[in-house]
Amino acid sequence: MRYMRKTFSPGRSELFWCHNCNLPLLEERCSICKSTGKRVLLSPPGDVRLCSRDGRDLLKELFVQNWGCADFLDNRIILLNKIAGIDRRDQVILDGRHIATLWFDITTGTHKLDLGPAGASLLAARAERGVVLCHEKHLKGHLKGKWLSAEQIACSPKSLVEGCNVVLRMGELAGVGTVRKRSDGSRSIRIKDVTRTGFVPSENLPTLKDVIAANENHLKNLENTALWELRRYISRTRLPVNISFSGGKDSLASLCLCCKAIPGAEVLFVNTGLEFPETVAYVRDFCRAHALKLHEIEGENDFFLHVRTFGPPAKDFRWCCKTNKLGPMTSFLKQHYPKGCVTIEGRRIYESFNRSTIRAVERNPYVPNQTTLSPIRDWRALEVMLYIYWNNLEPNPLYDQDFERIGCWLCPASLQSEFSHMRKSHPQLHAKWTSSLQAWAKENKLDSRYIDWGFWRWRRHPPKMIEIAKANDIELRARPKERDDIKLEVVQGRSPCGLEYSIEATIHVPQNHPFSAVSGALNMLGEVSYAEDLGAAVIKTEKGRATAFANGQLMIIAPKDEAKKLLGRIFETILRVQMCTGCKICERSCKRGAIVVRDSIAVNEKLCNRCGKCAQSCIVADQAAKMSRRFAASTFK
Ligand SMILES: [Zn+2]
Repeated sequence: MRYMRKTFSPGRSELFWCHNCNLPLLEERCSICKSTGKRVLLSPPGDVRLCSRDGRDLLKELFVQNWGCADFLDNRIILLNKIAGIDRRDQVILDGRHIATLWFDITTGTHKLDLGPAGASLLAARAERGVVLCHEKHLKGHLKGKWLSAEQIACSPKSLVEGCNVVLRMGELAGVGTVRKRSDGSRSIRIKDVTRTGFVPSENLPTLKDVIAANENHLKNLENTALWELRRYISRTRLPVNISFSGGKDSLASLCLCCKAIPGAEVLFVNTGLEFPETVAYVRDFCRAHALKLHEIEGENDFFLHVRTFGPPAKDFRWCCKTNKLGPMTSFLKQHYPKGCVTIEGRRIYESFNRSTIRAVERNPYVPNQTTLSPIRDWRALEVMLYIYWNNLEPNPLYDQDFERIGCWLCPASLQSEFSHMRKSHPQLHAKWTSSLQAWAKENKLDSRYIDWGFWRWRRHPPKMIEIAKANDIELRARPKERDDIKLEVVQGRSPCGLEYSIEATIHVPQNHPFSAVSGALNMLGEVSYAEDLGAAVIKTEKGRATAFANGQLMIIAPKDEAKKLLGRIFETILRVQMCTGCKICERSCKRGAIVVRDSIAVNEKLCNRCGKCAQSCIVADQAAKMSRRFAASTFK
């Protein structure tokens, strides 16, 4: 995983606000009043979207909790713009201004608001609590970043909670203050921002219909471009066309386009067995209501069995996509469209860094003759939703519930805020998954916060999560139960996030030696970087890379044949370390003196040229090679 780039800018995401009609514009000109909108500055990537019904309720609750008022949110178009963060982080846009940032604190399991200057300007006149009244005469010079001194404060709330935002009333000016602990331990207020007062929300309260009307020209253009592209491709192929429908908004918009361009296209829905019940019902009802031919493709049903073997899926260990989605889809396509097909998909580049390179037409390298078309690849969430409403379609009802993305209910790519929401919205599903996760955590001697705070969603954690773990004394290394049998289990296939091939596996071997010994020996295969605190070793070879974990998990990304080869060699090496008989034959067979046998084998990475001769004479390696060949014969048919 690449963590270096926290945000990405897939394109020029421009948003404007018609202050005449008080609504968002996807292009500069308003289709209703024909006036020119004012640009709204969005932090990248700029996948701005409509705030849901429950999202509005959440905002109201937080504004009332913090500042005692929230009436200005009623009946108003609110937009959310997702920005980089370790969990949910949305800029809240009201009347074309960024008033606050809504974020989820995984350590407390609660949502919080960071007020922006426009929010302070709005609240200065109306907040009923969380206000600090300042003595104007003591406020001189540059204020931003300064601590408020006692003489500057005329009146402040009785209790100041660390991290809390307060509204500063400073005469003509308004400000945002943050409550912080000073070096002497006392709580004080630091001035985060200063602005003019007097942001009064408009009395003009447009409806969603008005927003659509104001953007009609833009929506028409979007549609025309997408339809032109679809028709142009379809006219040149004789292959059957189908549409992949997940029940989410993006595939709904694509489905709508597909129906206009290619009436009668068949609808494919992979029911992974992990879909929200609302989604399954929605997809079936939708297809029935619109007389669409639906193929419901069922995934394997042993997901929870797999969890026992592989542990829960993670963002960077997504074996579930292969067992529950890509696998069943691939089998279905091969069977139903032996000559190939064209599949229309709803993937968008704004969705994630991994999708920032989607092309209009792509070949699926793992399904012969399947071509995928992504007509809405450069649409933003707001465009998708407005397009859906413009066509009088009803999106999945889960969007009202403040779910941003709709996929499997236990997807590791979900935000912790969404899991926390599920506790209330889908208590049974939440309990089922949590108990499975807790059982796995217990087996691996992991802290219960590893589950409750959502650490399970990664195998290799991003720096911010590691920071949180350190600050709260949470061990991130899994320490699995000892086992004395040898076992290798694998899922393989196209990597879920791109076109690369990947293998996820678990290797069970007796733990006779510490993982650091394994990591050292892996130098025989490639360049190793070992993260002791994570219990992970990353091996880079010429053609691929692999990560081996202390708990036996392994992931490999490389071209297909190379990945299989690497799996076999890693398995061999781990076995050689753990089952070393101390015969020293390998030590003698290495002319470079790169290998030394003490408790187990130790490799001098500076001397080793990775010739592999040491393995040729090793009995353990020989046994391991036989096992992995047998295994490969039965797995990689
Ligand atoms: Zn207008």
